[in-house]
This record gives sequence, C-alpha cells and structure tokens, in this order.
Amino acid sequence: MNNPLSILQQVFGYERFRGPQAEIVGHVIAGGDALVLMPTGGGKSLCYQIPAIARQRAGQGVTLVVSPLIALMHDQVGALHEAGVEAAFLNSALSYEEAVAVERRLARGELTLLYAAPERVTTPRFLEQLDALHRRGQLALFAIDEAHCVSQWGHDFRPEYRALTVLHERFAGVPRVALTATADALTRADIVERLQLQQARQFVSSFDRPNIRYRIAEKKEPAAQLLRFIQHEHEGDCGIVYCQTRKRVEETAQSLSAHGVPALPYHAGLDAELRQHHQDRFLREEGLVMVATIAFGMGIDKPDVRFVAHLDMPKNIEGYYQETGRAGRDGLPAQAWMLYGLQDVVNQRRMIDESPAGEEFKQVMRGKLDALLALAEATDCRRERLLGYFGERSQPCGNCDNCLAPPQLWDGTDAARKLLSTVYRVQQMSGIGFGAGHVMDILRGRKTEKVAQFGHEQVSTFGLGAEFSEAQLRGVLRQLVALGALAVDAQAYNTLRLTDGSRAVLRGEQPVRLRESVAQASGGRKRREARGSSALPAAAAGLTEAGQARFAALKAWRGEVARSHNLPAYVIFHDATLAAIAALGPSSVEELEGISGIGARKLEAYGQEVLRVVASS
Ligand code: ADP
Ligand code: ZN
Repeated sequence: MNNPLSILQQVFGYERFRGPQAEIVGHVIAGGDALVLMPTGGGKSLCYQIPAIARQRAGQGVTLVVSPLIALMHDQVGALHEAGVEAAFLNSALSYEEAVAVERRLARGELTLLYAAPERVTTPRFLEQLDALHRRGQLALFAIDEAHCVSQWGHDFRPEYRALTVLHERFAGVPRVALTATADALTRADIVERLQLQQARQFVSSFDRPNIRYRIAEKKEPAAQLLRFIQHEHEGDCGIVYCQTRKRVEETAQSLSAHGVPALPYHAGLDAELRQHHQDRFLREEGLVMVATIAFGMGIDKPDVRFVAHLDMPKNIEGYYQETGRAGRDGLPAQAWMLYGLQDVVNQRRMIDESPAGEEFKQVMRGKLDALLALAEATDCRRERLLGYFGERSQPCGNCDNCLAPPQLWDGTDAARKLLSTVYRVQQMSGIGFGAGHVMDILRGRKTEKVAQFGHEQVSTFGLGAEFSEAQLRGVLRQLVALGALAVDAQAYNTLRLTDGSRAVLRGEQPVRLRESVAQASGGRKRREARGSSALPAAAAGLTEAGQARFAALKAWRGEVARSHNLPAYVIFHDATLAAIAALGPSSVEELEGISGIGARKLEAYGQEVLRVVASS
C-alpha cells in the first residue's frame, strides 16, 4: 500500500488530496524538483511528508526538512509520531546526548523525516553525515520549508538560507522541494535564482483563503476598538494581536487582561524563557489571545486561531498576508481585522527613510508600502485587490467589509484642494510648517489657542472647510499622502509640506475619491449571534444540544491526552474532527473510521477511548 492516496488515508486519515497536492506529491515521489507556492493553511506539509513516507517505504532513505523555526519542530515531530511516522529533529534545544541519539537513528536508517535548522544543516559535521547516507543511497529528499527566507525581498530574510545551495551542489540527484506561502513575483524569482531551482517545476496555487473575512478600519481609539471587536465577535476564541512596538504590546496585553480577555505579551524584549513559555501556552491552551510584535508567528501552525488583529499597519502586503494567514488554518470561519491611521504611514515611511539600505531598495520598499496603503483605503473588494497583488484575478468575494457593507463614496477633490492650499498658506505666512491637527483646525474655522497664537484666522482658507468632519479630513490627508501629493516630515515634528505631486490636485486635475469615514457596520457580529451568545467554537456551530455535550466531553478528554503527551491539543485531534465525532455519536470503531482526521494509528491508539467518552456523555 505505497501509493500516495492510501498513505493520505491510512496515515493521516484524510479522504482526498486538496487542490494541487496530488500532483505535487506524484511529481516529488517520482524524483522531480518542485517549488510549491501555496497559501498558509493550504496543506504544504503533506507535499513533502507523503513523498517522504513513500520514498522511505521504497528503500530510498530519509527526508531532510530544513525549517527556520526550531521552536515548532518539537510539535511537528510530535504530530508525526501521533500519526505513527518515525521522525526527529536536530536543533539547539537538544542536549549533546540527545543530539547524538538522533544522529545514531539517522545513521541506522530508522528515520523517515529529520527536521533541522539551516545553520545546523550546513555544518561540516552534519554534511559528512549526509555524505555517508548519500553514498548508501539513503538520502530520499530535501524539503526546504519557508523558502522565502532566502530572499531579501521576502519578509523574513535569513542569510543562513543562502548556504543551502550546498545541498544541490554536493548531493546532486537528490530531489528538492522548496515551499513557501509568500510569493510576489520578485520574491519568487529570487527563490529560484538563489536556490538554483531553475529546473524545478513550479506549482502555484490560488492564494485565496475564502474562510478569512478581511476588515480594515480607521484607527480611532485602538484599545477600545480592539476590546469591542473581541468581546462582540470573538469571546472565548483564540487569536493574535499584532502591534508595532514592544510598549504597545505590553499595554495592549494588560488592557485586555484587565477587561477579562486572557492575553499574553510576546516580543523580542522578553527573556527567551518567558517568551517560549508564552508561546507554549498559546499553542496548548484554548481561548488565549497572544499580543505580539511580528517577532511572533513564523511557522505557528495552530489551526484554530479565529482572528488576527493588526493594531498597527504592517510594512507591506506580503507581511499582512502572511500574518493574517495564521487565522483559520482549519478552514473554519476566521477574521483578519486591521486598524490603520496616518501615523502608521508616517512611521513606516520614516523607518524606510532612515534605514541604512541603498536607494534602490528603499524605492522598492516605498512602493510596497504604498500598495498596502492603497489596500487600506480601497473602496472595492479587499480580496480582489489582495489576490491581484499576487497576480491572481478574481471576483468580488462577498466576505470582506467592503463587499458586505459597501462604503459610501464621496468626492474629496474640493476638500483636498482646500487642505493643500491651507498647508501652503500657513507655511507662507509663518515661515514654518505645521502638523495635520492644526491645519485641519484652520480649515474647519476652529479658534484654538494655537490659531490665535499664530494669527491664523487671517489665512484665506480659514473656516472654508467648516462642513467637513475631522474624520473626513483625516481620510483626505491619508489619501493625499498615499498619492504622494503631500509629505509628512518625520524629522520636523510630523509637519506637512507640499510635494511635486501637489500641483495636479491643487489644479483639480487629480480627482480624490474617498471612502466615507463613518464607523463601519461590523460584518462579523451576525456570525457570533448565529452561534449563540455562549463561547462555542466555530467547529461546534451546527451541533445539537446532545452533540455539544459530546463535543465538550471530547475536548476535556483531548486536553488530558495532550497534556500527558506534552503536545498541543490539536496535534491529538483537530476541533473539526472532534465536532464530526460529536455530530455522529458513533458507537463502533467502524463508524469512527470514516471521520476525517482519524488515521490508522490514531484509531488504534484512541478509538476505544473516544467511544467510551461518547457513550458516557
Ligand atoms: P501550510 O503548511 O500550507 O500552512 P499545513 O500543512 O499545516 O498548511 O496544513 C493546514 C491544515 O490542513 C493542517 O491541519 C492539515 O492537517 C490540513 N490538511 C492538509 N491537507 C489536507 C487534506 N488533503 N485533507 C484534509 N486536511 C488537510
Ligand atoms: Zn470582498
């Protein structure tokens, strides 16, 4: 029984391959090289795990998986054990004795998969071990996970990845499969070049994540907005909140905890042990919210993350997509929710301007920031734009804020001209620049202290924009910055100044169309109401009362098993699998067999237990 489909069914308990998996697996088993571009949650792991099993069964030896995140290797290997596959990892978390024990198993040909960090793979000692295996024809496959790490255009460049060309040069003939969830055209070309994958077949899947609802809103009172979002729509759910700075991470985690939302901070300033402890808790407990800088999340494969919230705007669309992609890997409904404001744009621009990189690089980075800003300001389907950015054409999705509640548009051309001429006139009159708040006050005719101090009632545009709300004007400002028609001088107290691009707007040649900045009707609220007010996980949504009782009992049982194996609960069974068992209420092993996510090993190990739990709940 060495064909890929029966491995899928037998070992992993899944009925059929998803999307391009079957084709990829077939190609790799036959010894072809491959570059796999698939969104997070698309099922990349099976694309090398099944070939690894098939090739090991065919006597071709071990598969080496290169992965940058040592923290998660333990759980990945644990999941393979649960499925009855011989796997191990080599990284700095192991003691010398443990590492030697793994090396022995490797040399004896006992392993089907070995996970290792790139810096380990390229040591002389390890390469010699690979030589020995290679000479005996016992190197089945190289899998290079998170392959975008090789590219400086990707969002997580790791120089160690560059050295991985040694695999290809030293072990010619061993097939290689490189996988990533990030792939704008630039990064993709770079991966091919850097890893010398010119001959590899490319498998590009749709990047769509239909179960994720995208929402982007204006930042007003971020802490309160976040709390409302979680309390109204994600009570009891597990989620990730991304913030730009450590300080904001700490504050946000505290404020959530103080309001009864269990939350933990994660950032590079925490000591390594505490950080690891928080990550472990996030992976193992249910209903925790992780508040983190982007230092957190690479390779997080927790399938039941129900929301990813951005309190600050990321650097670019790749980063945004990667981070939001951590929501809903189990395919159940999930939300990506972002707040952004003018300050985000200013901060990101400043980081680019002040970075030591060359001008060409900065230009690319500015272009990428602009694309994200355009997404945030968009009035049409978010998903269509996101996918468009990755070169994929699609239709309005019906599952983003703009599709669900189409924003009102208004013509901001007049407001934009008045704003620009106010910026120009105050600069003329006072000889210095001013910030956004003051400029808006003048336009709206507000007699503030500062206005009086500088005599700015005299500016000819004073009060000419009284009909505009501050929110409207802020929208105009952001749009002008996005268009390059207005610059925010970060070196000089964020004062505004005109640019070469201002003229076209001032002359009325460049129309400015804006979304109405009113609080958007929340598209997600209905979902929670449909699920009832209790904090039922998305998986259990459709269950009867008896089914829910079974589900709860199964979860409690799963929690015990997971703890005793020192693994996250989802490694034992996913929520979706438990929900399917709860719905069916099986009384025999045969009934269990047909349920997705129960492979032969798990059936043997847990089948009787599960039946007992079902019978007694
Ligand atoms: P990726 O690495 O692409 O983000 P994973 O390999 O972690 O995604 O897979 C995401 C989830 O989908 C996992 O929980 C996995 O078990 C599940 N999965 C993958 N392939 C299939 C399949 N053919 N049928 C059912 N579930 C699958
Ligand atoms: Zn849409």
